[in-house]
Amino acid sequence: MPNKVSYDAVVVGSGPNGLAAAIRLAQEKLSVLVLEANDTIGGGTRSAELTLPGFTHDLCSAVHPLGIASPFFRKLPLERYGLHWVHPEFPLAHPVEGEVAAVLQRSLDKTAESLGADQAAYVRLMAPLVGQSEDLSSEFLQPILHWPKHPLPLARFGLHAIQSAAGLIHKKFTAAPARALFAGLAAHSFMRLEDIPSAAIGLVLGMLGHSAGWPLPRGGSQRIADALAAHLRFLGGEIRTGLRVEHLDQLPLARATLFDLTPLQLLLLMEEKLPGSYRRRLGRYRYGPGVFKVDYALTSANPWRNESCCRAGTVHVGGTFEEIAASERKVVEGKIPDRPFLLLAQPTVVDQTRAPAGKHIMWAYCHVPNGSRFDMTERIENQIERFAPGFRDCILARNTMNCEAMEAKNANLVGGDINGGAFDLRQLVARPIFSATPYRIPVPGYYLCSSSTPPGGGVHGMCGFYAAEAALRDCFK
Ligand SMILES: Cc1cc2nc3c(=O)[nH]c(=O)nc-3n(C[C@H](O)[C@H](O)[C@H](O)COP(=O)(O)OP(=O)(O)OC[C@H]3O[C@@H](n4cnc5c(N)ncnc54)[C@H](O)[C@@H]3O)c2cc1C
Repeated sequence: MPNKVSYDAVVVGSGPNGLAAAIRLAQEKLSVLVLEANDTIGGGTRSAELTLPGFTHDLCSAVHPLGIASPFFRKLPLERYGLHWVHPEFPLAHPVEGEVAAVLQRSLDKTAESLGADQAAYVRLMAPLVGQSEDLSSEFLQPILHWPKHPLPLARFGLHAIQSAAGLIHKKFTAAPARALFAGLAAHSFMRLEDIPSAAIGLVLGMLGHSAGWPLPRGGSQRIADALAAHLRFLGGEIRTGLRVEHLDQLPLARATLFDLTPLQLLLLMEEKLPGSYRRRLGRYRYGPGVFKVDYALTSANPWRNESCCRAGTVHVGGTFEEIAASERKVVEGKIPDRPFLLLAQPTVVDQTRAPAGKHIMWAYCHVPNGSRFDMTERIENQIERFAPGFRDCILARNTMNCEAMEAKNANLVGGDINGGAFDLRQLVARPIFSATPYRIPVPGYYLCSSSTPPGGGVHGMCGFYAAEAALRDCFK
């Protein structure tokens, strides 16, 4: 890379946060260059024919409640560039045992009706959140250290959120379906369900299921990255792929440099330049468990025993609250669960462009200890077969990825951690450090903009947005 060329800003990494940061800067008419290590853009939002020709799988993200609710994405004309959200009839189904399943529908009341004894308790818990969903989303999707614009709804949310999922479940619900439903939502946190604040993730995802939906981009999650990239180019930004940045001297001159990287990579890249106290703080940053993922090409739709599961975009597979809690506890303790909790998506339920006529795809992953090389394929398939007898007969082809394979495809997935660092109480407030502007690297002109900064993991671009805002304040005023 010739050093003579200069830009106002350079962004390293083209994940949703890198692209969001680049767009925010280009909106201010700054010249922006994005550098991406892989040959394709998008980081955690990429799609490819992982199994057979004609079957379009998502390498990482598939389902996007945070994408559709993102205050920044919502302001961008992404539809013009081919991003169309498609909503399954049901955002989420959760088979509990036999033919019994909890179903999260867009309608709060219909969801509650299906929860029997917990009908009123579910409405009491969720209705105030769903009613204030837009205000609450804008509060969560920014650094936790800020003056809230909506203090009352936020305080009400906080009372429920600052507890463990297990604690909330014991207090609120008595029957298996509601207990399992909330456990599955909270398990997205990668935490033990006995740990604080695992309830927070369950509440946010449940709330968004009702207010915004859990949509998928038609054609696959690559469409999110492609639409962001097209908008960036429209604003004058440039993107170069196939360039892994390993030394700062590979970078062109720029007034601001933003890294869509995690602390480990930042330490490798900038170690000597960083003040000792910041280096030590980054050194204490913790990564969470990893994932083992399987993508399937199927001859037909998955034969779920419970019919609602056939109409849901996402299915949580793991049975009861107690089973899910046991599985997640084992992972955090560094052990491999026999009956893993699965997050499973069925894009072809709502988007037939993803597979040849009549055929289907399925995406499933489970949590494993960080860096695990254990092959979970059989355990994952046993779990699916338990709720969909005959599933194995539908498999045309599969592609598996363990933690190592995930990291090889994207260096940000350290040890298979998909969120850029553990989500726990400490890293909820100190991500990666405790600061009102945690995006700022204490070397003038350098910023971190990945999911290792607030508000953390998921495809929403808000880490990139806030990092770009910090750079605009510091470098371009
Ligand atoms: C299996 C899996 C399933 C997921 N499911 C969902 C989901 O359903 N919904 C959801 O909202 N989120 C999901 N996520 C999480 C989501 O993908 C991430 O939180 C999101 O992509 C983070 O965005 P980012 O921009 O911070 O980083 P990333 O998307 O990881 O992008 C980082 C980019 O930087 C590049 N890079 C790294 N090092 C260098 C370097 N040295 N030089 C140049 N480029 C470099 C990488 O190649 C990559 O393109 C999932 C993630 C995984 C892995």
